[in-house]
Amino acid sequence: MLQVNNIDVFYGNIHALKDISLEVNEGEIVTLIGANGAGKSTLLKTISGLLKPKHGHILYLTQQIAGKPAQGIVKSGISHVPEGRRVFSNMSVEENLELGAYLRNDREQIKKDIQQVYELFPRLDERRKQLSGTLSGGEQQMLAMGRALMAKPKLLLLDEPSMGLAPLIVKQIFEIIQMVNQQGTTVLLVEQNANMALSVADRAYVIETGKIVLSGTAKELQESEEVKAAYLGGL
Ligand code: ATP
Repeated sequence: MLQVNNIDVFYGNIHALKDISLEVNEGEIVTLIGANGAGKSTLLKTISGLLKPKHGHILYLTQQIAGKPAQGIVKSGISHVPEGRRVFSNMSVEENLELGAYLRNDREQIKKDIQQVYELFPRLDERRKQLSGTLSGGEQQMLAMGRALMAKPKLLLLDEPSMGLAPLIVKQIFEIIQMVNQQGTTVLLVEQNANMALSVADRAYVIETGKIVLSGTAKELQESEEVKAAYLGGL
C-alpha cells in the first residue's frame, strides 16, 4: 500500500533521514520505533506532504506522492495525527470532529461517521460540547485520532500517541488502535514506547539517527537482544 524508497530529508544542512526505505501492506499495523530525535516525526511529515524529500520516492497505492501538496495526500486517503495532538482548543469536541471532515461534502454520512467515532471513543461522546482545550491529555489524543478518522483514511499515521499519558490510558489508546485496524484502516505507528508498539504491531522498523537499523516481524524484534537492551528496558 505504501512504499518508501531510499528517501533523504534535510532541514537546511541537517541530514535528518538517510536513505530510508520501508513498506506498509494493506491491513497491517507497522511500527517505527526509535529514540528522541531519531527522525520518526520527520518520516511521517514527509509521507503526509509536510516535508519534501531531497531524493527518493514514496509510492502510495499507484501514485507517486513524494513532495505532493499535503491536502491532495489527505484526499487520497492518508491521515496524520501529529505528535502533541494539536486539537483546536477553543472549539468543542464535536466541532473538532466536524473539521476533520472538511474535505468531504456528504453531510448525512458525516453525521453517521461522527456517531461511529463516539462509539469508538465513549469519552468523547460524554464531552461533545466541552471545549477541547479543557480535555485531559488522553482525551485530546482520542479527539485527535477521531478527527483524523473523520477524513475516512485508508492509511492512518500516528505520531507517538502514548506521549505523556498514564499507563492505563496508553493501554486504552492502543486497544482503540487495534480496533480501528480491525475495522479496515492500515496503520503506521511511530513510538518511543517500544513495548506497547511491538505488542500491537505486525511488523516493525527501528530507526537510529536517521537510518533504519533493524526490521522484522514485531515478534522477532521483541525477541531481539539488541532491541531488548536498547528499547525494552533490558528485560
Ligand atoms: P521526537 O520524538 O523527539 O520528535 P523524532 O524521532 O520524531 O524524535 P524528529 O523530530 O524527526 O525526531 O527529528 C529528527 C532530527 O531532525 C533531529 O535531529 C531534529 O533535531 C531535527 N529536526 C527536526 N525538526 C527540525 C526543524 N524544523 N529544523 C531543524 N532540524 C529539525
